[in-house]
Amino acid sequence: MLELRPNCEHCNIDLSPDATTAMICSFECTFCRNCVEKHLSNVCPNCGGGFTLRPIRPSRNWNNQNDLHHHPAIESRTHKPVNLEYHRKFSAPIVKIKPQDR
Ligand SMILES: [Zn+2]
Ligand SMILES: [Zn+2]
Repeated sequence: MLELRPNCEHCNIDLSPDATTAMICSFECTFCRNCVEKHLSNVCPNCGGGFTLRPIRPSRNWNNQNDLHHHPAIESRTHKPVNLEYHRKFSAPIVKIKPQDR
């Protein structure tokens, strides 16, 4: 199940479960949209993959308790600010390749 992480790994801003600005890579590395676009150039610093908007888990029990109340966000924060100078070099060859071709 997708881990709903409570903050941006880089800038540490809060990302509530209903945030429309939370982005994830396929490994659930979680960043805010601002960091993904302005600092990371859509290259995950951990895996090199691209990001997509994190889906919103329903807050209501529409079906079978598949909702936020029964499966809440995790509480532990991952805050590992990216070394932006390193990331520029790391991402330079990757950013030219579309995420689906990486
Ligand atoms: Zn951020
Ligand atoms: Zn990643």
